[in-house]
This record gives sequence, structure tokens and C-alpha cells, in this order.
Amino acid sequence: MSEPILVAENLTKWFPVKRSVGQVLRGNRTWVRAVDGVSFSIEKGEIFGLVGESGCGKTTTGKLIMKLLEITDGRLYVSGEDVTHVRGRALEKHRRAVQMIFQDPYSSMNPRFTIRDVLMEPLEIHKVGKDMKEREAWVREILNEVKLSPPEEFLVRHPHMLSGGQRQRAATARTLMLNPSVIVADEPVSMIDLSTRAEILHMMRQLQRELGLTYIYVTHDLSTARYFTDRLAVMYLGKIIEMGPSGTVIDRCLHPYTQALIGAVCEPVSGKVNQVKDVPIKGEIPAATNIPPGCRFHPRCLYAIPECWEEVEPKLVDIGGGHMVACRRHEEIERVGAAARTSEASLGIRRATRIS
Ligand code: SF4
Repeated sequence: MSEPILVAENLTKWFPVKRSVGQVLRGNRTWVRAVDGVSFSIEKGEIFGLVGESGCGKTTTGKLIMKLLEITDGRLYVSGEDVTHVRGRALEKHRRAVQMIFQDPYSSMNPRFTIRDVLMEPLEIHKVGKDMKEREAWVREILNEVKLSPPEEFLVRHPHMLSGGQRQRAATARTLMLNPSVIVADEPVSMIDLSTRAEILHMMRQLQRELGLTYIYVTHDLSTARYFTDRLAVMYLGKIIEMGPSGTVIDRCLHPYTQALIGAVCEPVSGKVNQVKDVPIKGEIPAATNIPPGCRFHPRCLYAIPECWEEVEPKLVDIGGGHMVACRRHEEIERVGAAARTSEASLGIRRATRIS
């Protein structure tokens, strides 16, 4: 196995909550624990998905990797280098190596710029290319890569003159201008028509194969995550609670929260018959300022037992094949799932026998 291109070790981001005068005088301090000790590593050429509901910390994790936010605790390594607290030149180098595709490509582009200006800007900022001719040639090549061709037709357009899908292609082209090692794609297709989503993800997949790109795909959409990613990490209240090969996490999920997420998706997220039907969870997601003790999912979990809130938070444990789960009852949950599948299968055989 090759060296990981990105390693996050216990990555943490806490935001202080604004305090009243009384709280300041009493010395009380409240924190939003947006990312609360997240660890993972990504191989070169891999597509790694971070999934979860809004507020679970997935976008903040993406921003920490981009170094758009200061890391509160933990360490971040890119290509073997510790970039946790880089500044100045080293930060510039990091920003070249790690690029981001934003959810709304329109708001991330200057509306007065033409697509040529949008693509030339990073080359000029980072002084890439020996002269204008070389930069122009690179811009055209990248436009062809993202299928905005012939380039002459798109170079002179402004962002508002493109369709949603074309704008996302232009945004992808901009991230490719600096030959990044890692691309963080934050909900890149959520603002695009359903009909164009598969096309854009297909293009991103093709680019990944041709150029050996590494993506971190941040999304709440399990259907596209299943199709697009190699490995998935499911986040809940700032922590990863299940992680592994995408097919395994979706078809054999063992954490009650992942089961509930998959059960809540109407369309089938897996090519096979999904083992999860509709797993209910109790109540609302707690505030990130008030994380429950023990397993942070326990107030909503139908499998919870006293150990879940009385003992320390369960850690992610590898249960085989790189499938990791943070639940002290995963073995019982697996047995229940296996029994349900067996009884469904035998019911299916009985029905088929009756029909024949
Ligand atoms: Fe539920 Fe307990 Fe597992 Fe947490 S550890 S997910 S509360 S069964």
C-alpha cells in the first residue's frame, strides 16, 4: 500500500460562544465542539467521502483541511509534511496543494471576470507558467479536460452566461489549474439539476482516473456518495462513528445512526437489496455546545443500555476489512441484522415456491 497523501490525527475545532457580561464575570466559557477529534488517512488517488446531516462537522473538517480555519487541536499531514500550524510561504504552498470546489460555484467566482480571468487568476497569484502564452495554453488544456470545449467559446463568457453544470465544470477547472494533490469537494452537485449531477460526478471520476487526483467528497447525499466514493466516513456531532469501504458501510452498516440515515433515504442507495428498512431514531440532534456523556448518540439510540451513557465514549474499532464502527453493541446489531436477512430470504423462498 502507498503512503497516505493526507492524514488527520484527532483533528479538533472548537468555537467559543459569545458570552454575556455575567458569564464573563463568572469566568464561564461555552464551546461549540464542531469537530471533536476526527482521525482518518487518505491514499493517493482515493475518493474519500465525509457524510452526515448538516451540523455534523463535515464542512468544518473540509475547511480545516483547506486551512481556512485554525485547528484547535490534533495534527494534519499532507504528503508527509506537518501542516497543522503553517504560516506564510508554507501556507501558500499548502493552498496550492489542496484546492476546494465549493457548493455554489456562482458565488465563488467574480461575476465581472470572464472564464479566462477566473482560470488565469490562480496562475498569476502563484506565479505559475513562464509567460502568458504558456498560461493561456494551460487554460485551454484544462477547459478541454472538463469538457468545456471548444475553449474559445467559453473563455470569453462570464459565469452568469453558463448553465449550472457548465459553471461547476468551470469551478472544477479552476481547482485543476495548480495541479493539486488533494481536492476538497463540498457538496459539489447539490445546486445542480438532478439530470446533470451524474454527468458532473462522472466527469470528476474520469479526471480522477486520468490525472490521479485525490478527492474528499463532503456531502449529505448517501446516494451520490455510494456511487462516487471509494471509502466513506459517517459523522455525527463532530465525530466519525462509522468508516470503511463505501459498499460495506452502506450495505452492512452497523452503527444505529448510519442505519437510520440509510433507512431515511427513499431511493435505494445500494445496487443490492438494502438490509436496512426504516430504523427510527428518537428526538432531535443535541446542540454541539452540550454533547451528551458516554456515547454521544445515546439519547437518540433505540439500542442504548446504561453502559452507553455511564462509560467512556466508544472508540472506532476495526471489525475487519477496514470497516470501523464506534458502537459497543455492534456485534448484537450485526446478529439482529443477519437474523432479519435470513428470515426475509426464507420468506422470499416460501413466496416464490407458492407462486411457482
Ligand atoms: Fe447506541 Fe450504545 Fe451503540 Fe451508542 S454505543 S450507538 S448508544 S448502542
